[in-house]
Amino acid sequence: MNHYDYIIIGGGCAGLSLAYQLNQSKLKDKKILIIDKEQKNKNDRTWCFWTDEATPFDHIVFRQWKIIEFLSDDFTLHAPLKNFTYKMIRGIDFYQECLQKIAANPNIEIVNDEVVDWQEDSEKVMVQTSQQGYSADWVFDSRFDGRQFSADMPHNHYLIQHFKGWVVETEEKSFDTSRIRMFDFRTEQSREVRFFYVLPFSETEALVEYTLFSKNLLPHEEYDEKLKDYFSYQLKISQYQIKEIEFGTIPMTDYKFQRKQGKRMMKIGVAGGRAKPSTGYAFLRIQQDTAEIINSLVQSGHPFYKEKNGKQFEIYDAMILNIMNRKGESIKEIFTDLFRNNPIERVLAFLNEKTNFVTDLQIMASVPPMPFLKSIQNIFLSKTLVK
Ligand SMILES: Cc1cc2nc3c(=O)[nH]c(=O)nc-3n(C[C@H](O)[C@H](O)[C@H](O)COP(=O)(O)OP(=O)(O)OC[C@H]3O[C@@H](n4cnc5c(N)ncnc54)[C@H](O)[C@@H]3O)c2cc1C
Repeated sequence: MNHYDYIIIGGGCAGLSLAYQLNQSKLKDKKILIIDKEQKNKNDRTWCFWTDEATPFDHIVFRQWKIIEFLSDDFTLHAPLKNFTYKMIRGIDFYQECLQKIAANPNIEIVNDEVVDWQEDSEKVMVQTSQQGYSADWVFDSRFDGRQFSADMPHNHYLIQHFKGWVVETEEKSFDTSRIRMFDFRTEQSREVRFFYVLPFSETEALVEYTLFSKNLLPHEEYDEKLKDYFSYQLKISQYQIKEIEFGTIPMTDYKFQRKQGKRMMKIGVAGGRAKPSTGYAFLRIQQDTAEIINSLVQSGHPFYKEKNGKQFEIYDAMILNIMNRKGESIKEIFTDLFRNNPIERVLAFLNEKTNFVTDLQIMASVPPMPFLKSIQNIFLSKTLVK
């Protein structure tokens, strides 16, 4: 059985980020195996995030914007960003960049196979694929199994963020490349959270996405109908060609993901709870987690670093999920007030969990209090019942 220092299960965002950053760290001579059941040769997703700091992948950012748009029925915001930049990375560029850099390191191997089982003894972890067995000192596992979650979990919330997007090309100039439309709530909410999202790549090309936070997926025709209507009635574009389609789901839950699966096995990525519960954004959090894991391996010889205390953000996320779950349509009003009554940089810092208690109070005071009070009551009752 071949033995490695590290085995990474899943060469997606978290797995490749870890291998990529390990390759640039003091640990680049470690023997590493990445196992993925798929080959990463498709542009299967786009990653967007906003930040005021450098990231390891800034050199492959495909587009970036300095103005954010927010639209609701009675409110429109075009907010220039001072410190933050909204960035987009194409999946295919990310995969190619990681795979190229990794290929240059003879200590890192990639195997195309499905992991079916693992076991641990006091010294190592054995990983079984459909073809072969491998062992390692440490294993990082990014397999996510959504089957363990359901919307009626008694003590946690679970919703699905689901979206369908079209990359379209128009004959006439149709998009303003200076701005990203982060939320357009001018659509029927149907007791859920529903909005459109527009990322212009050029004056004639954009990704337009219909996004929902809800308990169930829609039939595919329904996403298509909504997108068609949005082009006709809001964007007022009649001639366009669909070049690519993106469909995705992201778990939105306050369930506490168990990162430590065994003494030597760590869950990473979405499976390690890196998607922010109330927004689904995960890319930046995965990069931050990766840096912390490597730092811990270098400093302490193990990956299980002590996470910063973000208890207040866990509570805010749980409250927002509770509102989404109970009365999804009210998020439109809450977000409208959030964007109307706060400077954009404050909102973005809050959503990135980079605010302090005083700023959080300002945020709380800017949105309708009743839904949150009801959420606090619900969460308190459900946690009390657990005890
Ligand atoms: C379409 C889409 C768009 C998104 N856009 C954004 C965004 O704009 N911004 C943002 O912050 N987040 C976004 N996310 C959320 C999140 O960033 C991504 O889901 C991200 O890819 C999560 O990384 P991951 O490594 O946890 O999972 P993945 O990238 O999905 O990687 C998991 C890997 O594990 C492999 N695997 C699974 N089971 C096995 C097995 N048994 N054996 C071997 N390999 C296995 C899979 O093939 C896959 O390659 C998006 C998600 C999706 C689905």
